[in-house]
Amino acid sequence: MSVEARKRALRYLFQRVIDPLGYKFSPDGELVDFLLEQEVLLEQKYGIPYCPCQGLTHRREEDMKIVCPCIPFHREHFDYMKRCWCGLYVHKDVTDPEKLRQIPLREFRSVKYAG
Ligand code: SF4
Repeated sequence: MSVEARKRALRYLFQRVIDPLGYKFSPDGELVDFLLEQEVLLEQKYGIPYCPCQGLTHRREEDMKIVCPCIPFHREHFDYMKRCWCGLYVHKDVTDPEKLRQIPLREFRSVKYAG
């Protein structure tokens, strides 16, 4: 299967997963296209569409938490940012993804557990 065909297939599959979670693909089409392509390349290499923005540890239990869409494993953090770490997905009500910031986990935790 060509990279383009696999990108289309992943897009179709992922859409079905993220929709009930309250997410959609980012309105930034160029970013979506780029990230999906990176995932296809990772899938060709490892057999799994891992996250293009989070490094593999090569420990299966940890790496399974960064198989796209990894939203269920990082739900609170991503909900707080209204986007996933890479920005491939955003909350359904987001129209301008440029306004969303990638908030490091440490920062999120410090806010969450403050007070
Ligand atoms: S951060 Fe986003 S693109 Fe990366 S695996 Fe998670 S859901 Fe997919």
